[in-house]
Amino acid sequence: MITYKKTQLQVSQTDLKEWRVNNGHAPTSVTGPCPRCEDETTDPLVRDLPENLLMTADVFTAAPLRLQISRIIECECSEPHPKRPHGVSVGCGASWQITVKRSGAHWIVEAGDPVMAAAAMELAKEAAANDLKSIRATAEKWLAGVAALLGLFTLSGALVGKGHH
Ligand SMILES: [Zn+2]
Ligand SMILES: [Zn+2]
Repeated sequence: MITYKKTQLQVSQTDLKEWRVNNGHAPTSVTGPCPRCEDETTDPLVRDLPENLLMTADVFTAAPLRLQISRIIECECSEPHPKRPHGVSVGCGASWQITVKRSGAHWIVEAGDPVMAAAAMELAKEAAANDLKSIRATAEKWLAGVAALLGLFTLSGALVGKGHH
């Protein structure tokens, strides 16, 4: 049995071949076997952002085809793993990067792009800790040259929608 351990995994396409995007119309979560413990786990892609910034199906269907989401996700399997810390009820401790991207009419899960994942992490942190103004500054910093990240795309949509242009 696999012992709980905080582990940052480097994953390949092979590790993610069984991963799928739930609700193919607009990717709201991803599911697949954890690359470490092999138990099934699901990640809600939007959890780190404040409610008013959550992506909606409309945002996704209106998006250009290049839209992609990169982030670091954690194992949240429901199997028991020895030495799981007190207060932690799920997972084996593993985390890894994924990119969710559009492929034709579908969304697919690929191994993460480190630059994109770092940007998404930074933005999520910013969104959790600060007001809209500083989030916007962070988003603008990253937006140059980056197609779209979970948070960035959502933010740019939300902010543009508020009549800044
Ligand atoms: Zn597990
Ligand atoms: Zn796991």
